[in-house]
Amino acid sequence: QNVGVITADMIDLLSKKSFPLCMQNIHISMKQNHHLRHGSRLQYGLFLKGIGLSLEEAVKFFRTEFIKSMDVDTFDKKYSYGIRYNYGKEGKKTDYTPYGCMKIIMNNAPAAGDSHGCPFRHFDADFLKQRISTQGISKEGIDVVMKYTKGGHYQVACAKFFELTHGISDANSEVEMVIQHPNQYFEHSQKLLHG
Ligand code: SF4
Repeated sequence: QNVGVITADMIDLLSKKSFPLCMQNIHISMKQNHHLRHGSRLQYGLFLKGIGLSLEEAVKFFRTEFIKSMDVDTFDKKYSYGIRYNYGKEGKKTDYTPYGCMKIIMNNAPAAGDSHGCPFRHFDADFLKQRISTQGISKEGIDVVMKYTKGGHYQVACAKFFELTHGISDANSEVEMVIQHPNQYFEHSQKLLHG
């Protein structure tokens, strides 16, 4: 693992290049609201741990954003615990593993105001289409991703989205990737970008 290699100030750029849509969505929501609800803090916090963000950097990362909407004391009292918990430093002291796609897709569907979940499963079609239209892929590509989504093939849609945004396939080619985990998506993306 690359613990220590990823620092808080790198996340914003990485989110644009290498995060799957589920994590990009939580990131965008956090930047807009300077806050995240419980489900997102877990899903995103564990993902970030998985890409190699240390506990200290994770606290720094969330604190920098959250204190735009609350004072530091409130943050330290209400949110530091949860971050430490994700890293196995509080509560049952379990070293929690980041959630895989099936868990994100099947469990704990987001309610209004939540930003966790899988966009391919949980966004309404218009909103999903709008979101993927900002990522520089062709209209045909967008249509293919939407077709898989409508067919209930959420992870295939995500894999196609990966291939299109990384320039490794076009709209008409067969989907070759299999996406089972957001952290796998990230690692594969970084490998393609940096060899
Ligand atoms: Fe995230 Fe998996 Fe959904 Fe892709 S398929 S957006 S990696 S939960």
